[in-house]
Amino acid sequence: MSSIIQLLPDHVANQIAAGEVVQRPASVVKELLENAVDAGATDIKLIIKDAGKALVQVIDNGLGMSVTDARLCFERHATSKIRHAEDLFSLHTKGFRGEALASIAAIAHMEMKTKQDQEELGTHIVIEGSKFVSQDVAVLPKGTSFAVKNLFFNIPARRNFLKSDTVEYRHVIDEFQRVALAHPKIHFTFYHNGSEMFNLPPSTLRQRIVNVFSGKTNEKLVPVQEETEIVSIQGFVSKPEFAKKNRSEQFFFVNDRFIKSGYLHHAVMAAYDGILKDGAQPSYFLYLTVPPNTIDINIHPTKTEIKFDDEHALYAILRASIKHSLGQFNVAPVLDFDRDSNLDTPYHYKDLKGATPTIQVDGNFNPFSEEKPSKQFASYRKPEPTANWESLYVGLKQDTDENGSVTFENEEVTSSLFNDEEVEHAVHKTYQIHKKYIVSSIKSGMVIVDQQRAHQRVLYENFLVNMTVLQASSQQLLFPLNLFFSSTEMELIAELQFSLMNTGFVFEETNKDHIVISGIPVNVTESEVSLVLEQLLSDLQDGIPESSFSQNDTIAKSMAKSLAVKTGTHLTEKEQENLVNGLFACKDPNVSPFQKPTFITMRVEDLDKKFAL
Ligand code: ADP
Ligand code: MG
Repeated sequence: MSSIIQLLPDHVANQIAAGEVVQRPASVVKELLENAVDAGATDIKLIIKDAGKALVQVIDNGLGMSVTDARLCFERHATSKIRHAEDLFSLHTKGFRGEALASIAAIAHMEMKTKQDQEELGTHIVIEGSKFVSQDVAVLPKGTSFAVKNLFFNIPARRNFLKSDTVEYRHVIDEFQRVALAHPKIHFTFYHNGSEMFNLPPSTLRQRIVNVFSGKTNEKLVPVQEETEIVSIQGFVSKPEFAKKNRSEQFFFVNDRFIKSGYLHHAVMAAYDGILKDGAQPSYFLYLTVPPNTIDINIHPTKTEIKFDDEHALYAILRASIKHSLGQFNVAPVLDFDRDSNLDTPYHYKDLKGATPTIQVDGNFNPFSEEKPSKQFASYRKPEPTANWESLYVGLKQDTDENGSVTFENEEVTSSLFNDEEVEHAVHKTYQIHKKYIVSSIKSGMVIVDQQRAHQRVLYENFLVNMTVLQASSQQLLFPLNLFFSSTEMELIAELQFSLMNTGFVFEETNKDHIVISGIPVNVTESEVSLVLEQLLSDLQDGIPESSFSQNDTIAKSMAKSLAVKTGTHLTEKEQENLVNGLFACKDPNVSPFQKPTFITMRVEDLDKKFAL
């Protein structure tokens, strides 16, 4: 039988390798930025078009390349960074595999200009799909520029797999931020479609973090510092009250390389044990320096995971040093002798901003109708005031009746014996169980409502109606709110602005790093605004839905999630009643916006059966 094994031609091998190295425009950004850092640049410009799909260009003022190197750098396994296998154990560069440029050149149109400081002239090379198109001598400034156009031009399947510009742009920003945070002494600028998105002058670490994540960041940072035999730790963590809803500001760098580590993340969270609200995420920017021979960065192709020799010790040191820093911050007020202890506030009040008086006119208000609804449940009490228990029956749609209709018990009451309020309670008794469920008697037996899910449903439908049918009502703030966001977040907000306005937000200004809000939806309180927006941004991490319908839907879901009463909240009887009424007035009371059941019923027969034994 004849032999059938052949060596793959280089351009095919490169295309295959490219699959590992280049998943999306952000991968190109990462490789080019890292090469510029490795070349000793002090000034690096990143220029992209259409989220990097049309162009990724990186211009540096680093070492540049000789004519020979300029040609060689596109070969696979061509690197100036290691010579021997042992060099792997003393790495101080980002790259070392020598396959990034070969891979990128295999799947894009690439143009390179490079000149070394001591040379008169530089080299200009054009390469497309691994084929050299031209090579010229050119007058160039010192340093190197790589422009990568039409990524995946020869692999349509991959091109089609790219996500929307919003998503790809987010990935690019992530990579840019990681490199920029690792190298505060380098001047970075970043342009997207002609506008400057970041301009980060050389600075201290703290200033770099603040420049990357907007001006409000500074006050929330607590320094962390620790020197031990096996690791030195530097950086910042956020004060607990500034914790975020998402993990977008959590960074580990090991020897100036961004890494991900679930294990070290756990160590940080352990340091915050007991001082964070449920689900809250601290920001952290932690820089670990370890001897290069105690880590193995070779275990993951895109190199964001690394293996440490002594993980357990690292965990303990990290946790202890963060605890220490947070402790110092927490005990600080005790040393403040002039402080008036009468001014002490319970912990959770510390987060609340002073309440700003608002003007709000409720057109439906009738002083003779009934008790004023609590703010929390105001939302679904409009446009029509709470119905009586009996109205639950009216509100129920045919299809909600499947397992026995939810008809509430209708006792005869002679109201003359009671004042109004007593009558109501006597007739419509609800019980809250474990601050989680609301139980009430119904004609066929009993109904058990999950308070959090029920409220989510009510708020969700209310927001949707406001956004799609009605002009949402908005409460005017006397003093506009200034809210700061990172530039990524600002992008998202700009895209959502229209939908948000439909919910009742009034934007007075949108600036580069903050927005000024002068009106908010009626069912949101001022202290909830930033929480609502943060949750929304975190829910949209993976991209903004394309259609305006699903945009509204996402916003309504997210706001309902943020604002709904949580399990564990005590509800007054009136609130319980309002909630149940509101739920059964919904179009689809059976499930929460996240498709979880909102209530169950138990028929008397079911109860009888249980007692029959
Ligand atoms: P690696 O970074 O793993 O060495 P690359 O394919 O990214 O592999 O780059 C190959 C080589 O090209 C590098 O080792 C370096 O010598 C050279 N090179 C790449 N980018 C630059 C740059 N911006 N400035 C100077 N030299 C560069
Ligand atoms: Mg490289």
